[in-house]
Amino acid sequence: MTTLGQATQLYLEEAADIAGLSESMKSLLITPRRETRVEVPLLRDNGELQICIGYRIQHNRARGPMKGGLRYHHHVDADEVRGLASLMTWKTAVVDVPFGGAKGGIAVDPTTLSIAEQERLTRRFVDEIHDIFGPDRDIPAPDMGTTPRTMAWIMNQYQKYHGFAPGCVTGKPVELYGAEGRNEATGRGVGIVTLALLKHYSSSIDDCTFAIQGFGNVGSFAAAWLHQSGAQIVAISDISGAFHNPAGIDIPAALNHVQQHGSLNGFTGGKQISNPELLSLPVDVLVPAALGNVITEDNAAEIRARYVIEAANGPVSPAADRILQQNGIVVLPDILANAGGVTVSYFEWVQNHQYFRWDLSRIREELERTMSRAFDRVWTVAQERHVSLRTAAYLLAIDRVSQAVELGGY
Ligand code: NAD
Repeated sequence: MTTLGQATQLYLEEAADIAGLSESMKSLLITPRRETRVEVPLLRDNGELQICIGYRIQHNRARGPMKGGLRYHHHVDADEVRGLASLMTWKTAVVDVPFGGAKGGIAVDPTTLSIAEQERLTRRFVDEIHDIFGPDRDIPAPDMGTTPRTMAWIMNQYQKYHGFAPGCVTGKPVELYGAEGRNEATGRGVGIVTLALLKHYSSSIDDCTFAIQGFGNVGSFAAAWLHQSGAQIVAISDISGAFHNPAGIDIPAALNHVQQHGSLNGFTGGKQISNPELLSLPVDVLVPAALGNVITEDNAAEIRARYVIEAANGPVSPAADRILQQNGIVVLPDILANAGGVTVSYFEWVQNHQYFRWDLSRIREELERTMSRAFDRVWTVAQERHVSLRTAAYLLAIDRVSQAVELGGY
């Protein structure tokens, strides 16, 4: 299986070759700037000591302070964090927010930890890395297994060393220097760029059917936005199962069900199908919004959608990507499709620096403007260079990053 890091490097190298980048610049863009690995001792509630390993990998800072999530998951390792850090460099460049890329994580299963243990772990991790991140250096944000609350602890611990600095993390609670609309931002961004894509193919959203895999933060907000915009969503899923209703799923009812029961388990608004079946439904638009590597060379030939929107990170493997292209299926790449979250993180950081709060309507307007502009640029590059939208997004990103490197010097 191709890892996210390998896939990102492959796409980057393909685009770098098309752009005619020198080997040294290519190597500079691939190599992370700094990799930090720390021991994080955690005193458990029962008095035992558990030793965890934490990472912060800072990939590139040519375009600004580095930016990327912090993940708590037992599978976290240096390879995964490295790949995600690189992806952040290209994502921030595609949407043109003035950040570089980074990622971090702790190899731990947060579901086995009490809230007090999570807090101690987070504060101890900050003790180890506080001098390498900060508002003008590297700004973490929530990712898998971390929440706005985790960000509040990070901010609080960081400030013990460095004084008032709410911009040292984003994705904070709205009550504590967070931004309105950060929660919905990635899903909303997915909706905005999907609509833009359909317009370019003269497809009206009202005439298109959708299947969405994953009904968590990204999938549910994308579903809500698309539904409100007139889309007919005929299938949704989460880890508990997939549901199909050719007449259209009642999305508000599904959202309500998840709010009440914690998952789609027991949802009666559609016939239960399997998650693999959802992926191969004959819909116009398929939105994988759950996991990486769900469309691989094993099932790519079965995909019948006309458009695949990569709402998750790396849902289509490079081998599958080639098969989809051969079959005339248009893929909107993750570094554009799910960049709404980092875009609103940027707005949060700007507000923290300005000591001024924007209201939700302003955040939504700016998100729409940023995502639409990024889509238009990627679309134009794809037309001019006769390449896929993915290659166009990488071409745009590496052009912006390599220019920043050259203009700033080494
Ligand atoms: P989440 O944990 O909130 O939701 C994940 C959803 O996927 C849940 O509904 C879960 O039940 C479902 N799921 C898990 N395994 C599944 C399976 N085997 N089949 C079907 N559904 C399954 O996570 P999220 O924040 O929505 O993130 C989803 C993806 O988007 C991830 O790849 C993440 O890296 C990426 N992403 C998230 C953000 C963000 O702002 N949240 C930003 C950029 C990228």
